[in-house]
Amino acid sequence: MKHKTKYVFFIILLCFLSGLAAYSVFDLPVSTIILDPGHGGTDPGAVSQFNGHLMEKDVVLAIALEIREIIKAKHPGLSVVMTREDDSFIPLDQRAAIARTTDPGPNEQAVFISIHTNSIGIESVSGFEILIKSMNKKIQFFTSGIQGWQLLRYAKESDSQLNAALNRANTMLASAIRSSVTDMFPDMRDRGVKEQDVWVLNASAIPSVLVETSFISNEQDSNNMASSEWITAMAHAIAEGILNFVAIIQ
Ligand SMILES: [Zn+2]
Repeated sequence: MKHKTKYVFFIILLCFLSGLAAYSVFDLPVSTIILDPGHGGTDPGAVSQFNGHLMEKDVVLAIALEIREIIKAKHPGLSVVMTREDDSFIPLDQRAAIARTTDPGPNEQAVFISIHTNSIGIESVSGFEILIKSMNKKIQFFTSGIQGWQLLRYAKESDSQLNAALNRANTMLASAIRSSVTDMFPDMRDRGVKEQDVWVLNASAIPSVLVETSFISNEQDSNNMASSEWITAMAHAIAEGILNFVAIIQ
């Protein structure tokens, strides 16, 4: 092989290998959206001291149910799974199990969006933020209870490739939702995307974000949550972000 031909061959081989390394199950098109309204039943979540003790569990369920309707209307091809669709208590491990074990179909993937309201002892704190798992937290994909279809999905990649791709997808999903929420609510304080050790985000083992829609402990935010117009606007903003992510990754 001549020197120049060798060089070109080497470049082509490199491109091919880097292409292989970049491709992951977490780069696949999205078929399934799993919506997880936090709390429920005996667990009210945070309770407002304003608006007749408005409860987080009711606010987040209302938002999630509207997100489902918006996604169904705008993108009927997507399947939407709810971890709860009424006022019932679902333990965290059951929510994560739904994320882990919902089969998105071959060559497709599912994403998990948990919806919460924030709360803190300082009344002046307000705004929205989006949580993703800590980048350093390594997820174990090959667990003892792994199902056959999952084994097939993960077998082609190493744990570190899967973790890197999962972090990439989490960041993209969070950024897409952050940007649509900022567009819809330009006056609301944008507290950004934060890495946090949240059990359900770690345990879901698929691209996952937790949207803290705003602070139920803040009077203005709480007043917003008590209005059905705000609930609808927030649902539209989150749905738009999810659908933008779906469009980018396809
Ligand atoms: Zn919560």
